Amino acid sequence: MVVDQSFNIRISGQRLGIHEFDFSVDDSFFSAFEHAQIQVGNVSVHAEMDRKEREFDIRLSLKGWVEQTCVRCLELGRLNIAAEERLFFELHPIDAVEETDDEIIRLPMDILELNLSQPIYEMIALCLPMRFTCETIKQTCDPEMEKLIQGESNEKMDDQDVVDPRWEALKKLK
Ligand SMILES: [Zn+2]
Repeated sequence: MVVDQSFNIRISGQRLGIHEFDFSVDDSFFSAFEHAQIQVGNVSVHAEMDRKEREFDIRLSLKGWVEQTCVRCLELGRLNIAAEERLFFELHPIDAVEETDDEIIRLPMDILELNLSQPIYEMIALCLPMRFTCETIKQTCDPEMEKLIQGESNEKMDDQDVVDPRWEALKKLK
């Protein structure tokens, strides 16, 4: 299996029919995204492109794990992920590319290659739970850490009540 880390698919001059690509997502992939919710992970991505004359579609399937931090005890955990998606593209003269459609992504006819980093990142991000805890991966929180963190966040809340000037201002309005 040829593993490619460019996340590029050649479009220009590609013969019609099915083309398959394999990509590998690692820590360096995530570091390219600003404010990424993920820093560490290992995900294999398979892409199957069905190339036609003026349009094509790409089936993306991915499988692997990403590291997440438990919101209760700050323990790191490996979350297994898997996702599939199908993207549709159309090739258009450059002046018609701007008229976008929700379902179909328009690309200029002379495009050389297509980079799949963004859709792959979005697919991975959609696999993340709203709130990751040790329980998500059927593990138990570190009770000592949990107590410590819980205590700290309670203290912070108390402080806010006292010092927040917006509340003081509101009280004066009464
Ligand atoms: Zn935990």
